[in-house]
Amino acid sequence: MPLAFVNGNIYVSFKPLKKVEALVVDDYSGRVVYAGSSAGAKRVIEALGGEVVDLNGKSVLPGFVDSHAHLDQLGMKLNMVDFHGVKSVEELKQRLLEYSRRAETLWIMGFGWDQELFEEKRFPTRWDLDEVVSRRPVILVRVCMHVAVLNSRAIEIAGVENLDSPNVLRDARGVATGVVREEVLEYVNKKIVESLSVEDYKKYIVDAARHMASQGVTTVGFVSCSINALKALTELWAEKRLPIRVRVYIDGAASWDAVEALERVGLRTGFGDDFLRIMGIKVYADGSLGARTAWLSKPYADDPTTCGRPCIDLRDLKALVRKVHRARLQMSVHGIGDRAIDMVLDAYREIGDVGRARHRVEHASVVREDQVREFAKLGIVASVHPQFITSDWWAKQRLGSEMLKWVCPGRTLVESGVAIGFGSDSPVETPNPWLSIYSAVTRGVFEGVPHAKETESESISVLEALYIYTYGSAYIMHEEVNLGALEVGKLADFIVVDRDPLAIEPRELKNVRVLETYISGKRVWPWS
Ligand SMILES: [Zn+2]
Repeated sequence: MPLAFVNGNIYVSFKPLKKVEALVVDDYSGRVVYAGSSAGAKRVIEALGGEVVDLNGKSVLPGFVDSHAHLDQLGMKLNMVDFHGVKSVEELKQRLLEYSRRAETLWIMGFGWDQELFEEKRFPTRWDLDEVVSRRPVILVRVCMHVAVLNSRAIEIAGVENLDSPNVLRDARGVATGVVREEVLEYVNKKIVESLSVEDYKKYIVDAARHMASQGVTTVGFVSCSINALKALTELWAEKRLPIRVRVYIDGAASWDAVEALERVGLRTGFGDDFLRIMGIKVYADGSLGARTAWLSKPYADDPTTCGRPCIDLRDLKALVRKVHRARLQMSVHGIGDRAIDMVLDAYREIGDVGRARHRVEHASVVREDQVREFAKLGIVASVHPQFITSDWWAKQRLGSEMLKWVCPGRTLVESGVAIGFGSDSPVETPNPWLSIYSAVTRGVFEGVPHAKETESESISVLEALYIYTYGSAYIMHEEVNLGALEVGKLADFIVVDRDPLAIEPRELKNVRVLETYISGKRVWPWS
């Protein structure tokens, strides 16, 4: 049935800024067929036959488009049990037992325990966990994230018993106690991902997508999507169970075959429908500032022995970019440090029409002005993540004053005409778009972030931030025709919020709450 939404404060677009009172959504196409006055909308709905929804003066905006999130990992995180504050091994066991009764996935995962807080003052062991869960694998990560305890089933699946490493803790008999650390934990994490079934992925993806819908996100760019996750997506699509629209960037590290397969069948950027589309391939050029693995042109100020490092070599990156471009797919490269971004530019420069393909740089956390100019010149687009501005609060100390100027630019990118979209990078950061908008506008000034003052000039306006998180993100995913605004003809993806974001103090932006989320004019959150 067609629906008219009347008596609202409806932002149709942010550039140019355009507001109306009412929208009419056609239920067949899921598109906006009228945007204008309430009286006009009522006349349209009388002619079409349909219902009127009174917005009672509430503010409505286009749904957020999160251009960069790890949907599967977010789902995994949402399915982890939180053990923060647990006071004994017995309490840990009790909570694990309770959770195991309702867990729907193969692995039972948890985090946040700290043996220092335990009465017993010791690490939990595989035998403790086995007492409550023995048939399914269990991994509980310590509060520091560098240590975990596994049960016997997990030890078996991950093949930990015979690893020769001091980071597999053993008892007096030489038997692994279940406690693993550092690189062994990373190895176990890889094994977990390999052991997940398509059903597990489906559960994680649905949970994550529903969570994003509750935050006002109506479309997500799912980056580093594995083959199993893609299979889960196509099954969910066929079952009509995808809660929000998903745009897929397949994990390139293990996907040379995927590029070839896609090219062979001619499956290019945009293949799919309004709910699920294949976009391209995502790879990493470097690591993170937090781990000092982001590749910089100068040494780290707080560790002059390192500039970080690349995680792909230039020849391989160039070959991959050529191949992806030839296959008419979109390339997406994670580049945090400016030296890594130089490498991405080297690879993109060789291609004639980057602009048409809208090849992407992810994060661009430390990016020089000459690089920004080249993004604009070549038509390279960027997915940037403003929550890093506040969560990397130690950036001043780590990068020193010269490189600090280049941290998470906002104003420079906007003024230079580079097409940018916003993303949460969740689960690294929260998927709540209001926190990104808040960070892009306030840049940590209320949190006392040490670099807030020095990089204040990079702050952007609320209007600009809203534009980037809607139309901007849609544009970098080739979707500006359908998404990112509420003009007649666009998909009717919108959110109702509890206050007008353009009428409040910047400080308040982080408190904006999403009351309802609609996709194609149908309410997807709160779900009935
Ligand atoms: Zn990411």
